[in-house]
Amino acid sequence: MRVAIVTVGDELLAGDTVNTNAAWLGRRLAERGVDVERVTTVPDRVADIAGVVTEYRDRYDAVLVTGGLGPTHDDLTMDAVAAAFDVAVEESEAALEWLSESGYAREDLATGTADIPAGAQPLHNEAGVAPGCVIENVYVLPGVPAEMESMFESIADRFVGSETHVAFVTADEPESALIDRFAELREQFDVQVGSYPGEYVRIKLQSDEERVVQEAAAWLRERVDVVEEAEGT
Ligand code: ATP
Ligand code: MG
Repeated sequence: MRVAIVTVGDELLAGDTVNTNAAWLGRRLAERGVDVERVTTVPDRVADIAGVVTEYRDRYDAVLVTGGLGPTHDDLTMDAVAAAFDVAVEESEAALEWLSESGYAREDLATGTADIPAGAQPLHNEAGVAPGCVIENVYVLPGVPAEMESMFESIADRFVGSETHVAFVTADEPESALIDRFAELREQFDVQVGSYPGEYVRIKLQSDEERVVQEAAAWLRERVDVVEEAEGT
């Protein structure tokens, strides 16, 4: 399964807000074996959002859009996604019902709070107010990270990729010194090798077979100056 992520917001482009949603979604999808092939950030502008959604919904199995859902002046995502499908936005009765069950009376909500593209299914916002939605293969999620994360978890099982296994080896050597060992590693094992220099070089090994990844990691650990790092770092 190939997926594109679209993050919406002027603040992301200006660097006022760090785009943690893209990183979080990328990691969760990769864990599920899904190939994330695009992360595109667009300004709060209908034509830009609609343009990428139109292009990506044809090109990828699914598109995840986050940000710009609320009813304020800079929240244009629902209008833009509706434009990409050539439909209007309309108030979602189901979303209004969920909101009233959560204690938000209809008359207290800002106009447009429950608007989603016509024909879309609303997604309940467990951690906030603005509903998300699904229309065909496009998933529209809130920008607030906690809201986006809980909404993604409610639909995570729709994102299914191939089985994938990963191992990390961290080496205390200059990256350039490792080139020959990477070449040999790739000759001997059917693994994808990523090399990410920083204070140390973090080497990511990936395969659809657990055994292959473990053997490749063991081979490499014997041949580089290994740094032991805590789990999950
Ligand atoms: P709301 O329902 O509160 O109106 P929203 O879906 O409209 O939320 P935005 O208005 O775009 O989302 O952003 C809400 C907050 O979430 C802002 O502080 C914004 O900077 C932050 N945010 C938006 N997108 C991202 C992102 N990709 N990564 C991290 N934070 C983000
Ligand atoms: Mg925004």
